[in-house]
Amino acid sequence: MKKAICILISLVMIMSAFTIMPSAANDISITADWNILTVENPTVQQEFAVTRLQEVIKDATGFELPAVTNAEGGNYIAIDSDLAFNAGEEPPAENGYIIRAKDGNVYISGTGIRGTIQGVYRFLSEFLGYRVYTKTLILVDEMSSILVPADTDISYAPFFEYTCTDWESPRDIEYCIANGITGGPYVNISDSMGGTVNYLGNMCHSLTENICSRYTYFETHPEYFAYRNGKRIDKQLCLTNPDVVELVKNEVLELLDAEHNPDASLQIISLTQADNQEYCTCENCVAFEKAHGNVRSATMINFVNQVADAVKEAGYNNVVIDTFAYQYTRKAPTGIVPRDNVCVRLCSIECCFAHALDDKKCASNVAFMKDLVDWKNICNRLYIWDYTTNYANTCTVFPNFGVMQRNVQVFAENNVKGVYEEGNYYMSFCDSEFGELRSYLLCKLMQNPYLDYNKTMNDFLVAYYGKGWMNIRKAIDMYTDNAGDILGHLRIYHSCKDSMQLTNRKVKIIDKYWATAYNEAETDMHRANIYRSEMSWRYYKADTGKGEFSSLNTARFDETQKLYDDLIAHGVATISECSRNDMLDCAAVRYVKPHQWDGFEEGDADTQAKIKWGQAQENSPLNPIRDLLYKLMNWLWGLFI
Ligand SMILES: [Zn+2]
Ligand SMILES: [Zn+2]
Repeated sequence: MKKAICILISLVMIMSAFTIMPSAANDISITADWNILTVENPTVQQEFAVTRLQEVIKDATGFELPAVTNAEGGNYIAIDSDLAFNAGEEPPAENGYIIRAKDGNVYISGTGIRGTIQGVYRFLSEFLGYRVYTKTLILVDEMSSILVPADTDISYAPFFEYTCTDWESPRDIEYCIANGITGGPYVNISDSMGGTVNYLGNMCHSLTENICSRYTYFETHPEYFAYRNGKRIDKQLCLTNPDVVELVKNEVLELLDAEHNPDASLQIISLTQADNQEYCTCENCVAFEKAHGNVRSATMINFVNQVADAVKEAGYNNVVIDTFAYQYTRKAPTGIVPRDNVCVRLCSIECCFAHALDDKKCASNVAFMKDLVDWKNICNRLYIWDYTTNYANTCTVFPNFGVMQRNVQVFAENNVKGVYEEGNYYMSFCDSEFGELRSYLLCKLMQNPYLDYNKTMNDFLVAYYGKGWMNIRKAIDMYTDNAGDILGHLRIYHSCKDSMQLTNRKVKIIDKYWATAYNEAETDMHRANIYRSEMSWRYYKADTGKGEFSSLNTARFDETQKLYDDLIAHGVATISECSRNDMLDCAAVRYVKPHQWDGFEEGDADTQAKIKWGQAQENSPLNPIRDLLYKLMNWLWGLFI
């Protein structure tokens, strides 16, 4: 691992701010003669923590601090020493830590499987400037000594037991450890490096698919499945059928027999509805739901409770059964509560992301908050499945930067124990926006929802986009201020037109921000990052006919073609969640809006008509007049900016 990290690390070739600031008399200066004091017989986690501490200190200072169990009068950074704590002091919460300057030495002490490791990474971040911004952009300050202020006394307790997001960099182990990600399945960190809370089997939509599979049982036992419009269909299960309950109990116990890890602090098995609305409407299901608030989560909770009881009876005390509060099961039932070993994952798919979830002026979010509070009141292990990209127009700007922090705070303040921030999980073939920025912010927010959001964002922008970063910040702020449709709401399937409301003048201002950022960038990496992220802005303009894509501009077809070619050249193979490898690749590409790129096929009559129309436009005798008008309008839009 060290070798890989060393290749990735670029040292910031400036002296650290810590070393040029005058230090107070009692401040600690860690120099080459210091030791790392470890416990006798360290655990594998403590060994890993010490090794990473040594490696990054060496990268930053050149010091090779020895790991010793007795510092013999010398100074030390102590890992998990009892001396860290004051008399009568409580240890940190599970997987938490303290970092403390005391008696001229430094103490890092943690609890649980990852507290010590997380404490070391926090130390590296705070005092050596170690930052893992992306899986390949890893920085550490260069310094001649490590300054630790005398009053250093940091304590941390995790806000959530499970955190996960599925963008690209959060699949990298070093990125996840450094940025506090603790949950699978997109990353699987070994226990010796702090571990992850993992799902056994599929993490979602397991019922009818992997559990009580429709492929295995529908033909012989249609009664296991949903009754709708007079017949059984294989889209969902009939959750009140006792045979289904028994079958699922057995399948879950078999899964545990094969994959259970008795040493894990927590493992999860997901029993979650298929991704459709075809719930069972048989007499028994309807009657049970009617008796429990007339909501469809009632049969689901009753179902998973029975499986959870069987798991508990079999002695699996570190296993919980997970289910969804999603779409038709989003509302909490009455007269029935989830068992202690049941986890409910409430999904925010219907929400607005221009307004914070607790914004009382946004009706869809008010409805969600009611459900969140109802679940919180009956469930002691509530998780959230949240959404952070535009799934219908993934290449365009998704201006949710104004609500990301508040939303994670809302989860923390409502007894939520786990957060999954679903994003652009297909970013490896659809990366044109702010994927890395968004990933970094989400990870950091789940690690600490109350961090300095502006500083965290700006630090990232400096590292990732370079000298002209402030212009990109201004563009992001302008996107955020104008987010949403004409009523100001923003959803995850919105068209480009409904994502932001921008006048031509504002478009000109944002164009200038992007151009300035690019011109001020000093490295190829920064220019490449700006160019890629700006494609999302160009996509927005192309789809809404703004700026150089205005219908007055006769060169707009060339601009559309150039955008398409750039996206392809940058590895973008889809424009939405569902259109992978289905992007238009024919002569009509230049004549249609980007959101239609997956809707035309070479040879279709429609496509031929579109091409004919476009060619006529390009050869129109009116074009000189259009060009003149465009020049005039362009001049007007750009006045006084
Ligand atoms: Zn039924
Ligand atoms: Zn709203």
